[in-house]
Amino acid sequence: MIRKLISRVFGRKSPGRAGEPAVIPHNTHGIRREAISSGSRRTVETLQENGYKAFVVGGAVRDLLAGIKPKDFDVATDATPEQVRQCFRRSRVIGRRFQIVHVMMGQETIEVTTFRGHHGQQDGPRAQTDEQGRVLRDNVFGSQKEDAARRDFTINALYYDPVAETVIDYHHGMDDLEHKTLRMIGNPVTRYREDPVRMLRAVRLAAKLDFAIDDETRRPIGELADLIENVPPSRLFDEMLKLLTSGHSVRCLQRLRAEGLHHGLLPLLDVILEQPQGKRFVTLALENTDRRVREGRPISPGFLFATLLWNEVLARWDALKADGERPIPALFRAMDDVLDVQAEKLAITRRVAGDIKDIWSIQPRFEQRSGKRPYGLLEQPRFKAGLDFLLMRAESGEVDAELGKWWSDFLDADGATRAAMLLPPAPDAPKKRRRRKRKPAADAAADEPAAPAPSPEPAA
Ligand code: ATP
Ligand code: MG
Repeated sequence: MIRKLISRVFGRKSPGRAGEPAVIPHNTHGIRREAISSGSRRTVETLQENGYKAFVVGGAVRDLLAGIKPKDFDVATDATPEQVRQCFRRSRVIGRRFQIVHVMMGQETIEVTTFRGHHGQQDGPRAQTDEQGRVLRDNVFGSQKEDAARRDFTINALYYDPVAETVIDYHHGMDDLEHKTLRMIGNPVTRYREDPVRMLRAVRLAAKLDFAIDDETRRPIGELADLIENVPPSRLFDEMLKLLTSGHSVRCLQRLRAEGLHHGLLPLLDVILEQPQGKRFVTLALENTDRRVREGRPISPGFLFATLLWNEVLARWDALKADGERPIPALFRAMDDVLDVQAEKLAITRRVAGDIKDIWSIQPRFEQRSGKRPYGLLEQPRFKAGLDFLLMRAESGEVDAELGKWWSDFLDADGATRAAMLLPPAPDAPKKRRRRKRKPAADAAADEPAAPAPSPEPAA
């Protein structure tokens, strides 16, 4: 009791009491070895049988202790990547800068990481950093204690040994879990400078777990928020994707805003959080995503980003049309413009950008409900995603609810009903086909000029 009190008062800042970790037995922490995946368990057992230290570590241990089903199980060991590889027939070393080993166990792939050294300590090798203190290279092997110290939050530095069924705790992570507190290991300012993404992680994990961020961990965030600008866009994209697909995106974004982290650092977040007209649509999209994630259904990053950026596209599209550009080329230009602005900060991968464009560019085609075009649209590979998107636009009031209903019904209807559902051709749309030599690419992709209204068909 007294020891606990002393450790509470004095023990926080230094890693563990005299560097000795607490070894917590099963009857205190309550995690049975059956709770971890069989692949990660066998990986740890095999490494230990070969004389190495090995533990399940990080998010999985944290989530199990917090009563949440872990997404995946990572293993940490004192074996070098090459030694790990020799223990498993089905394994391979991946990565150059951060060498880790993928061990294949049945359907599972277990990520095995060698303990990393805590650079930047007086006696340790110094990490290479940029002028802001951001760590550029971090591939020094170290002891388990050092490995624990270089993790971000105390609750992320817990090691579970499924053989002994013990939890090893160097940084009072168990206390913090119990008190629902997210606390940085070491000096928060230094740790945020080393890696500004930790600020986003703090917000995401606090939202996911519904934990409070410890004051000292929280305070510097507002001041250091600009450091996010130094982070490579591809890394920000990964982190944003994690945040948006955490199942708690609405809460995450509210917290980002509360911490002043959204401002000016990600154009996307400015859009989401500060655009009143888009708010309803975006909120619907995020709630919808959160629901899907929690129900364990897949979500598509393309769909998600398409919804988040749609109001930007609409605004840009309107402006271009007002300048006299034809609707479909204007839409394609608006799409590119919006994605370009994002790309400066957030590297949306090419594949995801392709998905986003597919979903956007199909939207005007839903306006066409006569003749053969609706049948053509049904055959589009991205029809379903496009329709889901349309339904969300309808729900938010951006387009007529009747349009979404018509398409849902059309999809479900049989042949005769479909034919009866078709609308008569618009009176000002002449039957005669437009004369054209060769379609420009944008028109080709959208098949026909297809702006919502008025009919873009030029009078013959
Ligand atoms: P999630 O639930 O999103 O998987 P996680 O904590 O497991 O959360 P990962 O990115 O899978 O996140 O990282 C695994 C572990 O690696 C973390 O628990 C933490 O110990 C360590 N880690 C991850 N990112 C950082 C970072 N930026 N700085 C320090 N340690 C980190
Ligand atoms: Mg993880």
